[in-house]
Amino acid sequence: MPRPTTPRTATTRWKRIRTRLIRTRTHQCHHCGTALDPKAKRGEPGAIEIDHLIPYIERPDLAHDPNNLVLSCRPCNLAKGGKAYGEPFQVPTTSLPLPTSQQW
Ligand SMILES: [Zn+2]
Repeated sequence: MPRPTTPRTATTRWKRIRTRLIRTRTHQCHHCGTALDPKAKRGEPGAIEIDHLIPYIERPDLAHDPNNLVLSCRPCNLAKGGKAYGEPFQVPTTSLPLPTSQQW
């Protein structure tokens, strides 16, 4: 189910920043290194999300600061969620390649 668009990300300013980041940054998750697909729609594998390094709740004044924004995959963005800046978070295993075994 698509996540409802919040007013914060529905602004023209945010869309412009998002577009610029996707155009200028490497299409790779900042946290786990997963390749991201700029053509993937929200919720699809590889869809790009914009993550605030310092969470919005801590520094709303940095919400539109490119230095505070990174490209992220959805699993990492979700796992990071409301964690404070610098607080470690578990990179979800779902975003890593599945282990395969030839032993069976
Ligand atoms: Zn990731």
